Amino acid sequence: MLTRSGVAVGASLLLPGGLAGCSTESERANDYKSVSGAPIVFTHTTVVTGDANRAALKDVALAVKGNTISAIGPTDEILKQFPDAEVIDGKNKALFPGLINCHAHLSAAVARGFNEDFGFPNRAGLEVHPSSLLSQEERTLMSMMAALHSIRSGTTTVIEYTSNILPEAAELAKTGLRWVFAEGVNDRIDGTVMSPEAFAASSTPRFSEQLRNDGLQRVDDIFSAWHNKNDGRIQVFPAVLHTENASAELLQAIRGFAEQHDLGYTIHMNQTHAEINYMMKYHKVRPAEYLAQHDFLGPRCIAAHARYVNDNEIALLGKTKTLISHQPAMAANRGVSPPIPSLRDAGCTICLGTDNNNNDMFAVMKVGMLTERILRNDEHPGMLPQPEDLLQDATVGGAQAINQPVGLLEVGRRADLIVLNTKQPHLVPSGRILSAWLHNGQPTDVESVIVDGEFIMRDHKILSVDEETLVAEAQKVGKRIWDEVESKNPVIPPGRTNWR
Ligand SMILES: [Zn+2]
Repeated sequence: MLTRSGVAVGASLLLPGGLAGCSTESERANDYKSVSGAPIVFTHTTVVTGDANRAALKDVALAVKGNTISAIGPTDEILKQFPDAEVIDGKNKALFPGLINCHAHLSAAVARGFNEDFGFPNRAGLEVHPSSLLSQEERTLMSMMAALHSIRSGTTTVIEYTSNILPEAAELAKTGLRWVFAEGVNDRIDGTVMSPEAFAASSTPRFSEQLRNDGLQRVDDIFSAWHNKNDGRIQVFPAVLHTENASAELLQAIRGFAEQHDLGYTIHMNQTHAEINYMMKYHKVRPAEYLAQHDFLGPRCIAAHARYVNDNEIALLGKTKTLISHQPAMAANRGVSPPIPSLRDAGCTICLGTDNNNNDMFAVMKVGMLTERILRNDEHPGMLPQPEDLLQDATVGGAQAINQPVGLLEVGRRADLIVLNTKQPHLVPSGRILSAWLHNGQPTDVESVIVDGEFIMRDHKILSVDEETLVAEAQKVGKRIWDEVESKNPVIPPGRTNWR
């Protein structure tokens, strides 16, 4: 059995007709149908469960039946239990729960190698930003590059959080990943306030009922089209894009939609000093305080970043059991390490995300571990957090954020898991495989990825979409775009006086 999903799909992205094949409800439902195959049993393998005991079970078997983890135990017992299973030799492999990316903006892949090095908002001063040169189909193609990167680095779920996701949804769904499409809405008229210059030029907020209604309609549209599709692998969350761009009415509408449909919701919060200055000037409260004032915080709310939160905000976030989506790698790019230890102590669940450009959750866990160790500066430095803490954030924390029965390798959970090849110089020998992987390993140690019981990558080959064709198309588009960007800015980075 090569794949439990049947034929590979997705090669038609930029062919005439574009996203054709995904335009009707029934066609969508058939895009990625689960075919119930034989159970799979990994024998004599290592299973990093991710559970509260932080167990790494050695020389065990793990069985996947349908979309569920059916058994974990001694190999001979499990083989007797599943006589018709496809047996995979698990020696020199380790199974981990799949990583859950709680904050991604996938199409930002187009600005890789540019957006990471000039602060936020970007101060490189390019005449033209690469993302402004993308057509809708090309934007989708960039998102597909990010989705492929996600799979290859061990991610099984992505919360894609942006505005106007619907045109990309069908292609993203074909990857077989578990998705949350978080459709973002703003209703402030005058654009975002992220830089000191934008703050200086800002005025009293004016909100637009039209913008609000249009945004809520987008939420409704994508929810009707995609929520619970692909055997439940796809969810749709409502989202506010930015604290400083949201009226009280919008906050209430988004929270109301989430409660009505039993969903999570997300927002960017306390990500820049300009945002905080703006909130203080016009609302007389800080961002998290504003959200608390309008009853937006709570256990459904995934507040992204929390880079610059004060003690009162940390207490509010903890008291309301708000989830914090922490993007340590992007935060480090921006020269900041958010007060994660204090947020943990206050009672917040931490989940992890990549944010822009990069979609490697392995790097996120690694940078998160190291930056939090530096930040903590404990009496005995270098002991907290442990690799298990970061894995917990990336799996159990993420599962709580998306409210799905994944995130642990235990019987009864959905089978979202990744398979590592551990027989490599940088992992042999390794006493604690998780620690060895995070400190010495590479994302490409992930050789297979299973989502909902189905291989989407096996032995390093992507099974769900035609990777080669997609990469070739993206390469062409990327060259055209960067040629155009560089024709206007021959030297990148431009002269330092532009941004120092
Ligand atoms: Zn973001």
